[in-house]
Amino acid sequence: MSLLTVDDLVVEHRSPGRPVVRAVAGASLAVHPGEVVGLVGESGCGKSTLARAVCGLNPIAEGSITFDGQPVTPLGLRRRKLTGIQMVFQDPYTSLNPRRRVGDQIADGLRTARDREGSGAPELTRAAPSPADLLERVGLPRDFAGRHPHEFSGGQRQRVAIARALAARPRLLIGDEPISALDASAQSQVATLMRDLAVESGAGLLFISHDLSVVRLIADRIAVMYLGKIVEVGDTEEVWAGPRHPYTQALLKAIPKPDGMGVLPAELPGDVPDPANPPEGCRFHPRCPFVMDVCRVKEPDFGPAACWLHEPK
Ligand code: SF4
Repeated sequence: MSLLTVDDLVVEHRSPGRPVVRAVAGASLAVHPGEVVGLVGESGCGKSTLARAVCGLNPIAEGSITFDGQPVTPLGLRRRKLTGIQMVFQDPYTSLNPRRRVGDQIADGLRTARDREGSGAPELTRAAPSPADLLERVGLPRDFAGRHPHEFSGGQRQRVAIARALAARPRLLIGDEPISALDASAQSQVATLMRDLAVESGAGLLFISHDLSVVRLIADRIAVMYLGKIVEVGDTEEVWAGPRHPYTQALLKAIPKPDGMGVLPAELPGDVPDPANPPEGCRFHPRCPFVMDVCRVKEPDFGPAACWLHEPK
């Protein structure tokens, strides 16, 4: 059974005097316990909006999100902490309290785990790491627990944010571009650490990144998002070896050589459609080298590759 099920999710952005933008326009996705799912796509494709909806931070316009068999709805901060979902955000500067020692902030996560699982649970008491243990797990010295956030580099602050999220013993960990603030040498190390810690504990990990090389390194499955839709999903190595959707093919072709891996390009050839006024039919058709008449009028609303070239029989 899935830990997280996102079914035909629609999330809208509304601003006075401006057209409604469907940032997520009917996306479906599942994460199982102990599984790592990588969500990739160009900037602005709706990845972060989807993640925030999963955490109860964005209201759902249509469709549904189910976590551990329960529907996810927008929640207040305290109730959100108790759901067993923890998110590591892109910006480590805003996610930590500048006035508190990081050890105390990590201890907040430990208290959240106790509140959720019951303070009398002996296995929790035995297994619970200290803030210093968690700092060590994310590659920081144990005595940094007494420091304040301004005494860390940006990358170190993100490691602290990861330690704090892990302290809460999440059943689902969501990383929204969690390594983009780290230097290149630390990125794969921290991503692998997130994977190892999530998998060891049986938690699921939804890892959002524009860095395909890291996603390939840690993800069991990969989901490719384009203009609010998941256009392809599959086992990471299968997608890598034989991408079906032309958008996935373009992304993989754009990866720098010679190591065969790299990052998404800033943009692909062709015009990027306005999310407030997406194209009729297949959303990728203005940029697709294989476009057919049907693509301009009818949306391919099926998986695992949402493309008329791969319509299921
Ligand atoms: Fe290209 Fe048509 Fe497939 Fe869309 S449905 S990706 S336009 S071939």
